[in-house]
Amino acid sequence: MTRSQLQASLKLWQSRKAYRYGKWRYYIRKERRAKTSTGKAAAHRLRAKWSKLHEEAAKTVTRRKRQLAENNKYGGSRAVTNEIIRIVGGRASVTSRKRPAWHPLSISNPSSDHSGLNRLADAVDFGTANNYSLAREIARRLGGWWSGDYDAFVISRSGNKYRVQIIAGTHGTGPHLHVGVRRI
Ligand SMILES: [Zn+2]
Repeated sequence: MTRSQLQASLKLWQSRKAYRYGKWRYYIRKERRAKTSTGKAAAHRLRAKWSKLHEEAAKTVTRRKRQLAENNKYGGSRAVTNEIIRIVGGRASVTSRKRPAWHPLSISNPSSDHSGLNRLADAVDFGTANNYSLAREIARRLGGWWSGDYDAFVISRSGNKYRVQIIAGTHGTGPHLHVGVRRI
């Protein structure tokens, strides 16, 4: 789901929430007006049900807002690395992500997409050795073509272009599958 799609669904959800709230209030008032003990009990039940619904909905909105903020990180590169993690789907564990600028690996390799210095880049490492089939699958499912180690391709997401670099062979910190993403 793109950023604008998420924002649109959030807006739609909020308007639906307002509508539902109005409807619930109408029913609660109607029951209250009955002025009987069953009417009062019904109103109470409705109110309890409404607040439960409202609480769940508030949680959903908070979660979506957090998702949106997370995917906006590093010029939207985080949305792409999250997409890559979903593609891998637990077949290999994530062994590294963004590293702070002061990290020894950031200092020794300042141009790395992992380095916190590079604000428009994000990277993800997977604990799998020489996994060329997984590397090709990631490229294909992102909509790119990868010819081999260190090769990069460009994809479009939410109106931005990102260059994606994949290294499957052993390099740097030992055997792992590296995917670096940078908004260009
Ligand atoms: Zn890496």
